[in-house]
Amino acid sequence: ICWSVGGGWHRPRVQPYGPIALDPAAAVLHYGQEIFEGIKAYRHEDGSIHTFRPRQNGLRLQRSARRLALPELPVEYFIESLKALISVDGAWVPAAADQSLYLRPFMFAKEAFLGVRPANKVNYYVIASPVGPYFKGGAKPVSIWLSEDYARAGKGGTGAAKTGGNYAASLLPQAEAYEEGCDQVVFLDQDGNVEELGGMNIVFVYKDGTLVTPQSDSILEGITRDSLLQLAADRGHKVVGRNVSLSEWREGVASGDIVEVFACGTAAVVAPIGLLKGKSFFDEQPLGPLAMSLREELTDIQYGRREDTHDWLLRLDG
Ligand code: PMP
Repeated sequence: ICWSVGGGWHRPRVQPYGPIALDPAAAVLHYGQEIFEGIKAYRHEDGSIHTFRPRQNGLRLQRSARRLALPELPVEYFIESLKALISVDGAWVPAAADQSLYLRPFMFAKEAFLGVRPANKVNYYVIASPVGPYFKGGAKPVSIWLSEDYARAGKGGTGAAKTGGNYAASLLPQAEAYEEGCDQVVFLDQDGNVEELGGMNIVFVYKDGTLVTPQSDSILEGITRDSLLQLAADRGHKVVGRNVSLSEWREGVASGDIVEVFACGTAAVVAPIGLLKGKSFFDEQPLGPLAMSLREELTDIQYGRREDTHDWLLRLDG
């Protein structure tokens, strides 16, 4: 779909996958005015194709758009774009039972000019790509590198938006994590509070059953996290959003107050954290049953193996 000042949203169409033409002066190439979403579609046993809480992705795309001075795509158009793509790809059959279809809606400034201002011409696309499970052979605990030299976002910045610049900023710390033998990187805010991983939110489970997750304007509000916390609340767990400092984390683990730590996002669903490594420390993390049991409950809902009591699935085909 295209958007222009005066013309609004127009020209919705499905086209074959392939390169797109961009003017070398397209604003996105210079000023990074772009946003995206990540969402999966799941094929159920009866052949129907469903996606998980897509309105939430549509609303988050609107929040990202506001922050990046891009036009807000109506949520109905967002949903329609996923359905249109799926109906062309109606023959999508996963190669394996654990495959899903990753959908990547994105919007960027295509107007060509060199001054710095919001673009008057914008394009919105969705691409689809089949993906296998994040963990081959079942979820395994991940190791986390604490980024002490780099921040992912700052107060008032773009941390809560899903925009490419945030991911560009996390590439170097992520490379550092790999060099340190870790799978993922975790970021702190300027006050030493835990924010999130490069592409996942974080949740702490306390001894009394309370789940605590960082609440901040500079992290991405994950839809997986929100769903897992609702499932935990359904089971009677107390759920709290508040700051968690690095020292609370480390001391909580050392004293046994924190009994599980896990990361979550669309790609991995839930990844238990097995290790936190910093420049001068190496903390083993306690593993427990809750993360994996919430993971199973959520994936069962997504794949249609368990009743969708929250009405989270939306059928895309038919
Ligand atoms: N934080 C960041 C930075 C992410 O990229 C993602 C993945 N979209 C998440 C958190 C988790 O969000 P969700 O559960 O909606 O995938």
